Amino acid sequence: MTAKLINPRDIILSPGNPNVLLCPTCNQPWLEKLVDATSDADGQPIIRELKRHDCACEQDKKRIYFDLQRQIDHQIYLAFNRTHGFLDPNYQMHTFAVDNNNNPEASKKCHKYVNNWDVALENNFGIFFHGDSSTGKTFFACCIANAILDKGKPCYPGIINGSSVYIATFTDLINKLASLELSRKEQFYRNLSKADLLVIDDFGSERQTDYILEQMNLILDSRERSRKPLIITSNLAPVVKTNNRATTNA
Ligand SMILES: [Zn+2]
Repeated sequence: MTAKLINPRDIILSPGNPNVLLCPTCNQPWLEKLVDATSDADGQPIIRELKRHDCACEQDKKRIYFDLQRQIDHQIYLAFNRTHGFLDPNYQMHTFAVDNNNNPEASKKCHKYVNNWDVALENNFGIFFHGDSSTGKTFFACCIANAILDKGKPCYPGIINGSSVYIATFTDLINKLASLELSRKEQFYRNLSKADLLVIDDFGSERQTDYILEQMNLILDSRERSRKPLIITSNLAPVVKTNNRATTNA
């Protein structure tokens, strides 16, 4: 559909109403002369206003513009979410598109999780990836994070309607928290709990001092209260509470 200028000479009057002009392209009402009840000195009708109607062509043009605007807004939103929600830019590189299928079982489970994301989000289903290092835990957690983000519903102009995803190593979360003033720290906790999906990579790798354990509990508690999915990767055995959460080896 391409926009086309209408030549005034092509405009035709509606057979049923001479004050209505039809669009020469779609033959639907396009302009309407609203005239006064009284006439001018020469007995001619006084045109008060030209009212524009949305003919089929106008509606098509608006739809194309709206869809384009929506796609642009969605791409801006995705870029914004990746910039702010993925603390390590390398996380953006790990996607299902580059999965070499070395671990087909884990791959299948992760695809299944993404395909059933609505159910996971509704029921607060998360995943606990545990196992030795270099077994693909981070890779699969990132694949899920990227896929969930892309899967977000297109947003409408001015309205964010997609999924928000936050992913970071536990160490980065701790360092980020340590760098913030108290008021911004609270906001940070709120943001973590608001994200549709929170992924904490390499959980429990820090030396477990009282401070680290306290932060660990604060993060997990705020997430638990939000009733939204949490994905954790860790070298630790699954001794943390896993109620309502799937557990998998990757
Ligand atoms: Zn038209």
